[in-house]
Amino acid sequence: MFPDAPMMVLPEQRLRARVHELVPELWQTLGDLVRHRSVNATPDPPLAVTAETIAGMFQDAGITSAHVETITHADKTSAPLVLADQVAHGGLTTVLLYAHYDVQPADESKWTKTKPFVPAEFVDENHDPRLYGRGAADDKSGIVMHLGAIKALRGNLGQLPINIKLVFEGEEETGGSVLESYLAAHPDDPRFHADIIIVADTGNVRVGAPTLTQTLRGIVMADVVVETLAAKVHSGMYGGPVPDAFMALVQMLAALQDRKTGDVAVEGLNTFDHPWPTVSEAAYRSQAGVLPSTSLIGSGTIEKLLYGKPSVNVVGLSGLPLVSGASNVLCPKAKARVSMRLAPNQNPEEAYEALRAHLAAAAPWGLKPTITQVGEGAGFVSGEGEHQVEIENALREAYGAAMVAKAGQGGSIPLVNAFRQANPKSDVVLWGCEEPRANIHGADESVSQSELEHMTLAEALLLQSVMSPIPIQK
Ligand SMILES: [Zn+2]
Repeated sequence: MFPDAPMMVLPEQRLRARVHELVPELWQTLGDLVRHRSVNATPDPPLAVTAETIAGMFQDAGITSAHVETITHADKTSAPLVLADQVAHGGLTTVLLYAHYDVQPADESKWTKTKPFVPAEFVDENHDPRLYGRGAADDKSGIVMHLGAIKALRGNLGQLPINIKLVFEGEEETGGSVLESYLAAHPDDPRFHADIIIVADTGNVRVGAPTLTQTLRGIVMADVVVETLAAKVHSGMYGGPVPDAFMALVQMLAALQDRKTGDVAVEGLNTFDHPWPTVSEAAYRSQAGVLPSTSLIGSGTIEKLLYGKPSVNVVGLSGLPLVSGASNVLCPKAKARVSMRLAPNQNPEEAYEALRAHLAAAAPWGLKPTITQVGEGAGFVSGEGEHQVEIENALREAYGAAMVAKAGQGGSIPLVNAFRQANPKSDVVLWGCEEPRANIHGADESVSQSELEHMTLAEALLLQSVMSPIPIQK
């Protein structure tokens, strides 16, 4: 029971004003979090300190169940997680808020605006303040958005008429978190169940353009090894009759793409269609840093190639000396790591089998390469769940913009798929403050204050739209 029994639903203008009033405080909180050098491998202070700091912020905002714990799976213990299970009433909508507090390492020599862990504000040409610092966008902005939405809604209320779970992790940037493998193995763990799961770790297609990320590509990786000799031999004395392991490997790798078009040549892979916003060639070229002399490859629009079709790359090679140390010696063994991005609706196991068969068939001269799978992650297609209308309306209202872009991402977020499998009927919302100018993972990472404000409001509007309209009788 709420003693002061206020009106539960705030008019949009009131909520907008509350979020606006909170912005200086949220901005300060974000700056304080950026000062935590929460790189998973080399944190300073220890990750547990950052996690406790964040748990404390949510406790102060009324999420009294916020606490830090670790989970163990397959003999590995996770980085400290901030979890909460704030049950107002069993029958109410449950929303799970996800973000990660670990950040990418930063090469300080490349930063021009400030040092990576010293937050600094600069105002852009549209008079929008931007906070610079590693993690300002990816993904401490996600934590601050969640905090701001709760604070704006809570106001003077003791308890919100909604159930809130928090899941903030500290090893998202490590490429395979314990949380992800745990959740994939324990989809029935109720700590990770909710009606709506909000993953605040993506962003708009540009500042001011409300965007829902609706598709993610999947990934498989394989190591390919070709062996032809017991040991290194002189290429003059023995070269000729014996196949060169590296030359054989190169032929296999070359067979992965069509020689003319550059399309992936592996048979039987899915492609996927979706109304993604158009990506212009000029924008793509400049963001990726494609050299003027390089022509683009692949059949289809850039957005289809990036979000809806497979792509294949060699991401590692070993077996040969560096050119600077090269001599006339035949290498006995050559190894490559192949990484293949997958259409959002592709089964990764089937894709791996197609890749393996294609590579094996491409081995020349009767060689039998060893091919092993070294990783996989499923893609993601957001369902049209029960709350899709509320989700889109919240974004549209927050920005006062008519269109909500339905975007894709070429990368993979395997945890999203684990959430989906644990919650097959729920809405999984992918949004956040990481628009392209944020330059996440790069130098001079930054976040826009207007994006933080709009996205906090969007989340507050969404939470309010799924709250019980009447106070809880306990
Ligand atoms: Zn992230």
